[in-house]
Amino acid sequence: MTDRLGFIGLGNMGRPMASSLVRTGARVAVYDVNPAPVDALVALGATRAVSVADVARASAVLFTMLPATADVEAVIAGPDGVLAHMPPGGVVVDMSTIDPLATDRLAAAAAGRGLGFADAPVGRLASHAERGECLFMVGARDDVFARLRPYLEMMGTTIHHCGEAGAGMRTKLVNNYLAIVSCAFNAEAVALSQRFGLALEKTLEVVHGTTATNGQLKIAWPSKVLRGDVAPGFTIDLAHKDLTLIVEAARAAHVPVPIATVAREAFAAARSGGRGGQDFSAVADALCDGAGIERPRLR
Ligand code: NAD
Repeated sequence: MTDRLGFIGLGNMGRPMASSLVRTGARVAVYDVNPAPVDALVALGATRAVSVADVARASAVLFTMLPATADVEAVIAGPDGVLAHMPPGGVVVDMSTIDPLATDRLAAAAAGRGLGFADAPVGRLASHAERGECLFMVGARDDVFARLRPYLEMMGTTIHHCGEAGAGMRTKLVNNYLAIVSCAFNAEAVALSQRFGLALEKTLEVVHGTTATNGQLKIAWPSKVLRGDVAPGFTIDLAHKDLTLIVEAARAAHVPVPIATVAREAFAAARSGGRGGQDFSAVADALCDGAGIERPRLR
């Protein structure tokens, strides 16, 4: 593997993922508008880039891991962006979670510049990224997928090729619909348990032994909000953004999603209450605080 790599967006996910690439000995140029994670990557052996264009010129395979649709469109397709500066024959891989219609536009724009494109959004959380255990949902032509697969294997343990460009992002929205909506109805269930004055431990023991169970409540929450740990993780702001993408994509596809719409507003309320930067499991605290219910905590 001799490709020179580039990585733009070194936040909660991007910093550990880029670190995994650097640790394998790959040559990686890195950039973020925030200098602190760039310094951390350079200390590991990455090359400092001073702009998006600087990374693009230095890369044959370039990864982006940015917050939202507008960020990705500006960085990849903006006037001084990746497509304007990357040498022909390269591959752009967007691993952010964004509007799939924007993904389609970026794939077409990349093809117009003689570049390959893949969307490879990530399942699992920042803690998995730290351990190189990401799950990828990839949309790409077969030849593009084959070229980037070795690099995804440096960052993750599970790689699904979901179809052509755009299929990864659409799979991610289906996945996050289930994961995030379950947080909203978990919040209602634990708030009800608190209001009833039930022992939280016994309530969980009961529901985990029936078909009522779900992974957020059973696996994720006992080490997060139910212990009082609301540090992200995956923030309420990003959960709200993903549910908005899901509602909009469903609207465009003429699919009614009433639960998703209501759940999105639960996250909207949590953001309005100043919790946007907290872990998405903290939607339970938001509901309990708003209703004057003691926050759910395991003893
Ligand atoms: P983050 O906000 O922690 O990181 C984003 C990084 O991009 C920041 O370091 C920011 O400074 C940088 N950035 C923003 N605009 C930039 C620009 N124009 N040029 C260069 N750098 C720029 O977000 P995150 O939690 O790492 O999430 C990134 C994406 O991955 C999001 O789309 C999110 O929905 C998705 N995701 C997050 C998780 C998670 O658990 N955090 C899990 C799976 C997927």
